[in-house]
Amino acid sequence: MSSPKIRHDLVIQFGNIYGPEEEQAVLDTLRRHAPTSGESCAQFEQAFADYCGVQHARCVTNGTAALFLSMVGLGIKPGDRVITTPLTWIATAAAAATLGADIDFVDVEPDTWNINPQLIEAKITPQTRAIVPVHLYGQPCDMDAIVKVAEKHGLAVVEDACHAVGASWRGRKTGSLGAVGCFSFHEQKNMSTLGEGGMITTNDPDLFERIALYRSHCTRVYGKSTKYCSLDETVLPMGKRFWWQDFDDVGYNFRMTDIQAAVGLTQLRKLDSMNRRRIVIAARYTEGLSGIPGLRLPQVRPDRTHVFHLYPVVLEPEKHGVTKEDFVYRMLHEYGIRVGTHYIPLTWSTAFRKRGYAPGQFPVADTAGERLVTLPIHPRLTEEAIDYLISSVHELLG
Ligand SMILES: *Cc1c(COP(=O)(O)O)cnc(C)c1O
Repeated sequence: MSSPKIRHDLVIQFGNIYGPEEEQAVLDTLRRHAPTSGESCAQFEQAFADYCGVQHARCVTNGTAALFLSMVGLGIKPGDRVITTPLTWIATAAAAATLGADIDFVDVEPDTWNINPQLIEAKITPQTRAIVPVHLYGQPCDMDAIVKVAEKHGLAVVEDACHAVGASWRGRKTGSLGAVGCFSFHEQKNMSTLGEGGMITTNDPDLFERIALYRSHCTRVYGKSTKYCSLDETVLPMGKRFWWQDFDDVGYNFRMTDIQAAVGLTQLRKLDSMNRRRIVIAARYTEGLSGIPGLRLPQVRPDRTHVFHLYPVVLEPEKHGVTKEDFVYRMLHEYGIRVGTHYIPLTWSTAFRKRGYAPGQFPVADTAGERLVTLPIHPRLTEEAIDYLISSVHELLG
């Protein structure tokens, strides 16, 4: 079975827009022979830190690396415990789990689908080191409540802001609300650096230094803090004047390239307008889809901005007979619209069943797993595509 009229603009799920500015940035970097982390990375980091209102930012290969390096920087090790939500991409929980830590999941709120701060304290143990809230779908978590419980117990808050670049909580940008913020510039995210990329933000200079060191093999070059030092400028501790590279520890290579950072700089300048377009499309969906029995639309709490990385809706099959599976299948095959399923709770995955979890342990996240779908939303959607999506949902559930 296939659609008579596949709408290609609704089948694609990612919406990074590259224009002449990005083309120019790529060309300029190519003419500088496209180095690895160099001056464009430094500029991108400075601009990103300024945008988020933090002291330090470091660009990395992807959001997974950002989360992982945050855990490395915090010294997470086997036996430690980290609290997060089951309703997220696996990278959020994998960051600490791959370092040997145990993950304690906490159920989500039924209106925002973000981690429920009221349920966090009951999960804190003497081994707990960090809380990783995810600003799911682009709406910031209740950060006051999360930071308060973290401070009371001496825990680090690591923001997974991969969905929420540019969103704010009580006037402050995501990435500036905890000990460290993690961003992704994957092709599907609200801004992209040629398909992959990531950023870490923090106000803590010691944490930043550890993150920066482990990102690039824990290297220190004597005489200067960057790797671009000339032989003449370098004086070793023993007074010798030759180039010598030391390693504080064994680390990793999660460096971004300059060509990605040059594109990232131009994307950052467009971010607010791309996010505004997402917010406008979300308002169109909310207007066009309200009043359909058995379709619950996203709620935005008043004290935060929602940058609509995704547009989640909940289906109530008892009202119209259409289950999540039916909806996803029929939207694709009858209307040519690819609907997302962000997310199947991590507790349902083989990876976390091996670690003692199972479906049924987190009722609200389980409900999302059974009933929540995400409609395509990105700045490349045309007005015609938006209308077509709205009328298709009416027809299917009507
Ligand atoms: C995309 C994403 C990540 C990982 O980012 P990558 O750049 O794909 O590695 C982590 N957490 C969440 C919530 C994400 O959506």
